[in-house]
Amino acid sequence: MLLEKKVIMVTGAASPRGIGKATAKALAAQGAQVVVIDLRKEDAEAAAADLGNGHLGLACNVTDKTACSSAVRATLERYGRIDGLINNAGITQPVRTLEIGGEDFDAIVDVNLRGTLYMSQAVIPIMKEQNGGSIVCMSSVSAQRGGGIFGGPHYSAAKAGVLGLAKAMAREFGPNRIRVNSITPGLIQTDITGDKLTPDMRAEIIKGIPLGRLGDAADVANACLFLVSDLSTYLTGITLDVNGGMLI
Ligand code: NAD
Repeated sequence: MLLEKKVIMVTGAASPRGIGKATAKALAAQGAQVVVIDLRKEDAEAAAADLGNGHLGLACNVTDKTACSSAVRATLERYGRIDGLINNAGITQPVRTLEIGGEDFDAIVDVNLRGTLYMSQAVIPIMKEQNGGSIVCMSSVSAQRGGGIFGGPHYSAAKAGVLGLAKAMAREFGPNRIRVNSITPGLIQTDITGDKLTPDMRAEIIKGIPLGRLGDAADVANACLFLVSDLSTYLTGITLDVNGGMLI
């Protein structure tokens, strides 16, 4: 198995149809001990229990630096090491530029970008001590196209910020053998997108996707598995487009 004895934290991993939960499942299937992080303790614990025995569910709001440190401490108390972090927690808001209020901007940037920084800051000292680790950051095709259907311009900006942050961390911590890579999913069927598409919208979107379908959470989960595992030991600072060819 690819991840035998590896301890991997996944943020935003309790949403039943979400990318985080699918990723947690893919990692557990490869032998990882998975730490499911989400806003509510009961959701995180239930999602961890769904993965089988030996996984941990923790409540942590990734916008709260102290909470991120506590989650890392709890993980170390339980497993004694941390090999990977998937910065997946995210929120969107489908509004246009002129409608974005200050609070909207703060909320979107806080979860998507600040949360990625705080969780990374919490795990990196541990990974440095262990002389290695792998961090995967969830950006979005919205960062590359300048907008999407479900994310507003502030979401595009925050997700573009994630790409810059990931590259900067990859450069800074490469000498510590800590790899940092990003994924830019296209349109993936989850709670963020799932039921909100009318048949007409869906058909229109699919016209622009060479592979002819929307993505599944498992498509992104498999990309996370690749980047967090030793299959990608010479990759850092890259962006993996998981979008069915949307940008060709
Ligand atoms: P989702 O809403 O199903 O899951 C997001 C999870 O993050 C939820 O479990 C939620 O409770 C959790 N979360 C939200 N705020 C949090 C916080 N402050 N602290 C901790 N957890 C928090 O969404 P998804 O579609 O699975 O999206 C996962 C990631 O992929 C997000 O970063 C999203 O922006 C990104 N993404 C999704 C798509 C898509 O089409 N679904 C496309 C591109 C990028």
